[in-house]
Amino acid sequence: MPHIVILGGGFAGLTVTRRLERRLRHNAAVQLTLISRQNYMAFTPLLAEVAGNSIEPRHAVPPLRGFLHRARFHEGTVQQIDLAARQVVVAHSDGGQAHIPYDELVIALGAVTNYHRTPGAADYSFDLKSLDDAIRLRNHVLATLELADVTPDPAERAALLTVLAAGGGYAGVEGLGLLLDFVRRALPFYPSIQPHEPRFILASHSPRLLEQVDERLGRYVVRALQARGVEVRLGVSVAEVSADAATLNPGGTVPTRTVLWAAGIAVTPLLRESGLPTTEHGAVQVAPTLQVVGHPELFALGDCAAVPKAGGATYAPTAQNATAEARLVADNLAALLAGRPLRPFRYRPLGSLAAIGSYEAVAQLGWLPLAGLPAWLAWRAVYLLKLPGLSRKLRVALDWLLEALLPTDIVQLPVQPSDDRPSEGAQLRSREHQA
Ligand SMILES: Cc1cc2nc3c(=O)[nH]c(=O)nc-3n(C[C@H](O)[C@H](O)[C@H](O)COP(=O)(O)OP(=O)(O)OC[C@H]3O[C@@H](n4cnc5c(N)ncnc54)[C@H](O)[C@@H]3O)c2cc1C
Repeated sequence: MPHIVILGGGFAGLTVTRRLERRLRHNAAVQLTLISRQNYMAFTPLLAEVAGNSIEPRHAVPPLRGFLHRARFHEGTVQQIDLAARQVVVAHSDGGQAHIPYDELVIALGAVTNYHRTPGAADYSFDLKSLDDAIRLRNHVLATLELADVTPDPAERAALLTVLAAGGGYAGVEGLGLLLDFVRRALPFYPSIQPHEPRFILASHSPRLLEQVDERLGRYVVRALQARGVEVRLGVSVAEVSADAATLNPGGTVPTRTVLWAAGIAVTPLLRESGLPTTEHGAVQVAPTLQVVGHPELFALGDCAAVPKAGGATYAPTAQNATAEARLVADNLAALLAGRPLRPFRYRPLGSLAAIGSYEAVAQLGWLPLAGLPAWLAWRAVYLLKLPGLSRKLRVALDWLLEALLPTDIVQLPVQPSDDRPSEGAQLRSREHQA
C-alpha cells in the first residue's frame, strides 16, 4: 500500500493533507500520515492578536485532528529524513522515537527565526512565530507593567515601559501595533503609570515598511504609527540585544526590557543535514512541479522551499503562497500515482493585508489599495474566512466582540514552555539578576 507522509501541520501541510483526502477519495489503497510537532496549526496572522490580547490563545490554533478524516495524525518532532532508507525519524514528547517509512514524502516544515547572528538577539528578544511566543510576549508585557508600577527609579521604569520591534514586515508592524493597543487599554489598571510613559519603537533595516504592499500604503503605515506615538526608525538595524537594552545602528543604545524580533526567517538546518539539495539560505530546491531537485518522490513547499518563479526569483514565504503551493502538491501527487503528467506552479497572489491596531489596517486587494477602517474591516473579514473550521471562526468573532465591549483582561497566563527557549519568567529573572 503506497504511503504518503506529510511533514508539518502548518498552512502548507494541512492544506496538502486535506486536499489529498479529497483527491484520493476513490483510491483507498493509499495511506496518508501527517506528522507535526503540535496537534494544532498555528494560524500566524492571528498571533499578534493573541499577544495583543484581542483573542483567546487557543482560538488562534485550530486542532489538526479536527480536519482529518482518513489521514492519520502523528504528533512528534521530525529529527531526520533518511533518504537512503526512505524513512523519517520522529521524536515523541516522552523521549521515545518512531521510524516512519514513506513512498512519497511532502516536506512542509516552515521556517525558524533568523537572528542574523545578532549578539544577544536569540537570548533576550521575543519571537512571534508560535502560540508559545505570543503567550510569552503577552505575559512579559504584563510583567513589565507590574514591575513599572512598583519601581520608583525613573530610568528603570523607562526601560520597563519601552517596547522595541525589530523588523518592518507583517510580524513587526502588526505585533507592535497590537501591543500598543494592549498597553494603552491596560493602563487604567496601573494608575501610577502615566499615559505618556510607555514608549514604542519600530526599527526596520529596510528604508520602507511592509514591502509586500504598495509603497503608498507603506508610507501610510509610517504616518499612522507615528500619529499614535510610535517612533519609526527606517534604515536602522538592531545590532545587539542585551538584558536591559538594544543597540541600534545608527541610533545608539535604547534601554528596554522588551525587544520583539521580527527581522527575518531561516530554514531549519535539519533539511540540509538530511542531504536534501538546498540554497545558500537552507531552503529546499524544488522544480516548478514542487518536486525536490533530484528526488521525484519528494515534494517541498511553503517557507522551507525555494519555489522558482519565471524569471529566476522565488515565491515569497507567505501563507497565501504556501496554501496555493499545497493545492498543486496534492494535485501533482494524485497525478503521480495515476501516472499522469505533473503541472508547474504558477500563482499570482490575490493581495496583502496588515492590521496596525486601533481599528486601522492597510490592504492591497489586486489593484485596489485600501487604508484605515475599510482595510481593517477587510482584514478581519478575510482572516475570519480563512481561519479553518466554523467553531474557531465563531470563537474568534466572539472574542473580538467581547474585547471591543469589555475592559481588557490583564491576567497573566501560566505557561509551560514547550521548547528549549527560556520562559518569559526566566528571562525576566535573568535580566533582574544581571541588572
Ligand atoms: C506573526 C506572523 C504573521 C504573519 N502574517 C501573515 C499574513 O498576514 N499573510 C501571509 O500570507 N503570511 C503571513 N505570515 C507568514 C506565514 O505565517 C508563513 O508564510 C506560513 O505559515 C508558511 O506556511 P508553512 O506551512 O510553510 O509553515 P508553517 O505554517 O510555519 O508550518 C510549519 C509546520 O511544521 C511544524 N514543524 C516545524 N518543524 C518541525 C519538526 N522538526 N517536526 C515536526 N513538525 C515541525 C510546525 O510546528 C508547523 O506546524 C505571518 C507570519 C508570522 C510569523
